[in-house]
Amino acid sequence: MRKQFLSILLLLSLVFSIAAQKPASEPSDKNLRSHVEYLASDKFEGRRTGETGATYAAGYIANTFANYKLKTGFNSLVNGKPNANYLQTFPLVTGVLMANEGNSFSLDVTKADGQKLTFKEELAFKPVGFSPNGVVGSSEIVFAGYGIVSDELKYDDYKNLDARNKIVVAFDGGAENDSPHSAFGRYDAHTKAKIAKDKGAVGLLLISLAEKLEDDSLAKLKYDPTLGEAAIPTLIISRKSGADILAMDEAGLKQIETTLAMVKNPNVKVNLAVNSKAVVDFKVNLTKTKADAYNVVGILEGTDATLKNEAIVIGAHYDHLGRGGQGSLAVNSKEIHHGADDNASGVSAMLELARRFSKEKKNKRTLIFIAFGGEEEGLLGSQFYVNNPAFPLAKTVAMINMDMVGRLKDDKLTIGGIGTAGGWKNLIDAKNLSDGVGLAVTKLNNFPPQSVNSSSFNRFNLSLSEDGFGPSDHTSFYAKQIPVLFFFTGTHNDYHKPSDTADKINYQGLLKVTNFVGEIVKAIDANPTKPTYTVAKSSGMTGGRMGFNVSLGTVPNYADGNNDGLLLDGVRDDSPAAKSGIKPGDKIVKLAGKDIRNVSDYTIILGELKAGTEYEIVVRRGAETLTLKIVPAARK
Ligand SMILES: [Zn+2]
Repeated sequence: MRKQFLSILLLLSLVFSIAAQKPASEPSDKNLRSHVEYLASDKFEGRRTGETGATYAAGYIANTFANYKLKTGFNSLVNGKPNANYLQTFPLVTGVLMANEGNSFSLDVTKADGQKLTFKEELAFKPVGFSPNGVVGSSEIVFAGYGIVSDELKYDDYKNLDARNKIVVAFDGGAENDSPHSAFGRYDAHTKAKIAKDKGAVGLLLISLAEKLEDDSLAKLKYDPTLGEAAIPTLIISRKSGADILAMDEAGLKQIETTLAMVKNPNVKVNLAVNSKAVVDFKVNLTKTKADAYNVVGILEGTDATLKNEAIVIGAHYDHLGRGGQGSLAVNSKEIHHGADDNASGVSAMLELARRFSKEKKNKRTLIFIAFGGEEEGLLGSQFYVNNPAFPLAKTVAMINMDMVGRLKDDKLTIGGIGTAGGWKNLIDAKNLSDGVGLAVTKLNNFPPQSVNSSSFNRFNLSLSEDGFGPSDHTSFYAKQIPVLFFFTGTHNDYHKPSDTADKINYQGLLKVTNFVGEIVKAIDANPTKPTYTVAKSSGMTGGRMGFNVSLGTVPNYADGNNDGLLLDGVRDDSPAAKSGIKPGDKIVKLAGKDIRNVSDYTIILGELKAGTEYEIVVRRGAETLTLKIVPAARK
């Protein structure tokens, strides 16, 4: 029965594919190639969101939409008049600068021999890029080793210390030989500032591990908008400044580090003799630099009087990593990261589908083509879109995402989101069964085809994942309970490196994926019944920092830069968060008795929770503040 059913579907799709492929001279592969080669060329400088190259790329995509006569997605105001526009503007924090005034650091210290010293601005220091602004006036210091407290590791640098209303001085990093993946590796500056604040401290001074302060990555004013600000004003200071504060020389400082390394062995008891009577004043005044970033949205209206009121989104992010930096896997490279596979490939497929559908004009539902910006910075463009859609989300019935579809190898294709709608699995399996005109003819000659072993005619070697959350823009839509499908041809050695170039794309493979996705969109569109949203099994690949033991089932909004709580874009059904009564749109402001202002605070606290234990969680919902109970689940 099942086999026969498949055969009928197979025949139907063969007939369909013959019809769709006529005329045989469609320049599809040429189009795909020219989009990829152009977007991945040096002209666009790696398309880093907020930089000129990305803005040019958005312009190229908008022009292409205009050529296909798509409708514009937005009206912006130009000289007070509405101006139709393919571009949806969203704000992006591109970095931070030290303001000309308002950054200072001074110190009064009494040494062991009673000698009093005063240091002013010559002290070497730099605010960390994610420090909040603030004045930390005339406070005593307390030395807290590496500034780490961990129940799990049975380690406490604050033992017998009273840090209330004081400035904590601590070494950056863990101990020597600690890799970022070691147990201590996750205690970064964000985490240490959070611990210090929870201990009542008013500021944090981190002593650099680098010989020269300017070589320290914390001295480079980096700001990750997806993490937000640190909990309290934080400076990175030179080793000389650290020694001055602790009223010792740099050799003494080294001695302390050696001793601290021993403290990490709980069997070794050591006595840290730091008796500095220092009083510190410091000020931080950083300015965030902002740029406009863009999604590009083109609309092809449906032809069916009723169904055109529903929409299918076909999306791909066009941004990449510019000349490296955050997100790059080519350490310290300043070369253009071309991003041919990631994700000129997906954009070219999306544009080619826009061309085909706009030429045919047979789509019943409205098709919305979107090139997202800000994906590499944390799905910022798609998060902005779902909160400011061009078409009502309640009427958006499916989202199809293509991210890295240019490296098809051995026909291996990964599809995510299979569990997000009833019927997705059957649809994909059925569509995977035919392969172009040549095969169609053979198979038709063999009619009836019941003797055919259907597995030998699979177009792709599919790897299916149920989860609707994943490391790309479909996550933003699934968080709004929209069924999603995510197409991906797999990762490779050039991923997030300058060497992800256009000459390495498998254009025949890209064409094959584009055709496949096009047919799937047609099948969804042809069905008068919209896909039914279903709750998918989690694969645990939501992104963010790894290594948590527990999960709450929350989907944070990485674009909210307000640092006044963790805004949730979504809550997984049946998750601990859902059971506690938390809803999308809530802001978590407190968890397990600790304040939460942003993603960074949240992930730090999450790292300390135990599965099965009940905690208090405080959320803001509109004008209300709710105190709820939550029991974290163990993460697989
Ligand atoms: Zn990427």
